[in-house]
Amino acid sequence: DTLTYAKSPAVDRPLIKEKYEHFIGGQWVAPASGEYFDNISPIDGKAFSKAARGNKEDIEKALDAAHEAFKTWSKSPAAERSRVLNKIADVIEDNLELLARIETIDNGKALRETRAADLPLCVDHFRYFAGVIRADESTISEHDEHTVSIALHEPLGVVGQIIPWNFPLLMAVWKIAPALAAGCCTVVKPAEQTPTSIMVLMELIADIVPAGVINVVTGFGPEAGKPLATSSRVAKVAFTGETTTGRLIMQYASENLIPVTMELGGKSPNIFMKSVADADDEFFDKAVEGAVMFALNQGEVCTCPSRILVHEDIYDRFMERVIARTKAIKLGHPLAEDTMMGAQASNDQFEKILSYLEIGKQEGAEVLAGGAKASLNSGLENGYYIQPTIFKGNNKMRIFQEEIFGPVTCVTTFKTTEEAIAIANDTMYGLGAGLWSRDAHELYQVPRAIQAGRVWVNCYHAYPAHAPFGGYKKSGFGRENHAMMLNHYRQTKNMLISY
Ligand code: NAD
Repeated sequence: DTLTYAKSPAVDRPLIKEKYEHFIGGQWVAPASGEYFDNISPIDGKAFSKAARGNKEDIEKALDAAHEAFKTWSKSPAAERSRVLNKIADVIEDNLELLARIETIDNGKALRETRAADLPLCVDHFRYFAGVIRADESTISEHDEHTVSIALHEPLGVVGQIIPWNFPLLMAVWKIAPALAAGCCTVVKPAEQTPTSIMVLMELIADIVPAGVINVVTGFGPEAGKPLATSSRVAKVAFTGETTTGRLIMQYASENLIPVTMELGGKSPNIFMKSVADADDEFFDKAVEGAVMFALNQGEVCTCPSRILVHEDIYDRFMERVIARTKAIKLGHPLAEDTMMGAQASNDQFEKILSYLEIGKQEGAEVLAGGAKASLNSGLENGYYIQPTIFKGNNKMRIFQEEIFGPVTCVTTFKTTEEAIAIANDTMYGLGAGLWSRDAHELYQVPRAIQAGRVWVNCYHAYPAHAPFGGYKKSGFGRENHAMMLNHYRQTKNMLISY
């Protein structure tokens, strides 16, 4: 029964409907095309529900609803917007188990991660922006004794938000929460691979959010994403996805002269300095765990530490532990409580990662762990499972330069700090980086020298709502998280008032 996992006893309602229409103006709206597409679970490669196949007509309907809602929402007091955001957070928290399971079924990631990371971060994100908007005030200053200057923040308008499949709900929340806080209304286009969790969230909050403030149109990039990104009726496009798609979105937005936020790909270095081995066992163990983080979320993380740079003097001792730890990662049914790593999100992604495993071998990289697909049984034969893989090679190889977006990391060594920095920066990307060291000088100087928007020092993969997140170089621009996001969804009107 393909839906066995959908009838979980852990939540007392059917997990997933057979099909989802668009969510527009607070209503469920059938797609103009009349068509639906299969939603495949990566757990077993079988369809478990259907989503509406959106097109330009649906996007126009959603924009109509958003523009109508904007008339009221943009004028609503910050206290009211804050109240709505807090209520959404409460609903997500109350339904955490339900949403976590749906996300796991749709995306393939292990339930223990969805439950412990994705969903709590969604809750906190809404609460953070509910708080931030209350504390934010327009600035008033006196120009002279007769003239006052008021810098008034006004919401940008109706925005388009395009979401990837790797953290389907969290990436949507990262965009929706600040937009709503700022007084914008939104049309969201989820990734076609993972449209379900956001639709279930809409079911849960339909009575809380005024109609038209959030609209969700599902469908494929060129059919539903493009009409949204090219529309002259959106005031901004916020995009998370591949660098190549980002280029297209920027071209579209340039026609309308509107701002864009680009959260794109990465090839993040995770650097282990010599002092890691001089430190106490506890720190050494923590650093080993930090290296193994490449397998978190099946490696489908834009900041996946997909390059490990290790000082040559500690290589043997350190990598022996990292390899053993990687081999101990338990792959399995993503809903099983003891599963550490689940399935890749789609067949396309699965094939892409397998092709990179071949590329790595052909380039002469040494396979230190994994290196092949994982064969699981008990109904999981057709799921998209890959062994967590470590290659050893050099930074010029394609596997070190191109985003694989899977549970694959590539290790190389360095002799000096300068060399480590040079290798770390020898990439077109600049999203995340990790540094592990016990040396006070390195702890500040190395992160300063790394060209990346986020450098974790002696930790990795933490995403608090108050820490600005975004890319350098080809990893994009604009930031998400942090109070500064409000200004990405607003414009400032200055009024010079003389009396
Ligand atoms: P993708 O670019 O293929 O798709 C992202 C979204 O864009 C989807 O909703 C898709 O339907 C839509 N889209 C595709 N073509 C379009 C078009 N012509 N016009 C409008 N919309 C279009 O990316 P993906 O494969 O879903 O996501 C993986 C990528 O996302 C990776 O490169 C990853 O690094 C990146 N990512 C970045 C961050 C970040 O914050 N920097 C976070 C998560 C993922």
